[in-house]
Amino acid sequence: METRLDRYEGAKENKINQLRMLIEESDNIVFLGGAGVSTESGIPDFRSGEGIYNQESGLKYRPVDIISHTFFMEHPEEFYDFYKRKLLYPNAKPNKAHKALVRLEKQGKLKATITQNIDNLHQEAGSKTTIELHGSVFRNYCMECGKKFTMEYIIEHEGVPHCDKCGGMIRPDIVLYEENLEHENVDGAIKAIKKADLLIIGGTSLTVYPAATFAQFLKHDKVVIINKSSTYLDLQALLTIHDSIGEVLDSAIPKTVPAKSSSKKTAAKKAAATKKTTATKKTTTAKKTATSKKATASKRAAPAKKAEPAKKVAAAKKPSTSGKTSAPKKDTAVKKSSAKKKPTSKKSKE
Ligand SMILES: [Zn+2]
Repeated sequence: METRLDRYEGAKENKINQLRMLIEESDNIVFLGGAGVSTESGIPDFRSGEGIYNQESGLKYRPVDIISHTFFMEHPEEFYDFYKRKLLYPNAKPNKAHKALVRLEKQGKLKATITQNIDNLHQEAGSKTTIELHGSVFRNYCMECGKKFTMEYIIEHEGVPHCDKCGGMIRPDIVLYEENLEHENVDGAIKAIKKADLLIIGGTSLTVYPAATFAQFLKHDKVVIINKSSTYLDLQALLTIHDSIGEVLDSAIPKTVPAKSSSKKTAAKKAAATKKTTATKKTTTAKKTATSKKATASKRAAPAKKAEPAKKVAAAKKPSTSGKTSAPKKDTAVKKSSAKKKPTSKKSKE
């Protein structure tokens, strides 16, 4: 879907220049991304033509049914068979989009990287501000005792992985269909967007709740959309670019951190050094993050069931309550249901 501007020669370059300018004049940028950010790392998305939902699952069930809470509880063997083949990409590496966002973060401009992906690639690239709405396949925990396990543990154990301490079934810390998102993450995302002076939405068709509704929390209309196909927000966005998210971000975000110090060379060197450190640290960071966050279940692109969006959206709007944050009531409901859903009652950590 090309927009009117696409038809003019040079339009693409002009748009990237516009994005560059918007970034330059902004100090509190938030990025909201989806599966399209990871496809350039070789991870298939869910909904496109070659997406997971349209692939043969090799099973007698549909992928959308398999990654649901009910299915997981009732058919863990089939769930894990599908999960290991289709949702785990241990060799995927961050691409230009992830790296460009980390540069923007280091430049002090990007304040939050909100993702619907569960592949850990933002953190692997060095991001410190990632909010994983749907959890991460890198975190797994025993449903009985709460012990945490790595993705490698899941891969190395045939069939359904069980806890080496108590024998309980292990589940990935991702949000399955029928499960609620961790309210802390939703709150964090909404708060970040409310404070943002520029919201860049990329690699998402904006059809999955609640991310699809997040733009409404922005207090102005400075929204940029970068996606290969069109989204419902295209016409309202300040700038819409239908192109590769990796190429666009890589071109629009300066390669070096505007060092207060000196020459470009120094800056570049510095950036390189930082990069190294980051890489080294990354594992640790990821682990830390995992630990600090509740071991709740979260899910992957929990594709919202089409029927529920309206209701859920309403819920999402309400800030949240429980917890340390401010919010009002609605979250309670969320929390409650969340608790209900969690398979094991006592276990969750704390
Ligand atoms: Zn256990």
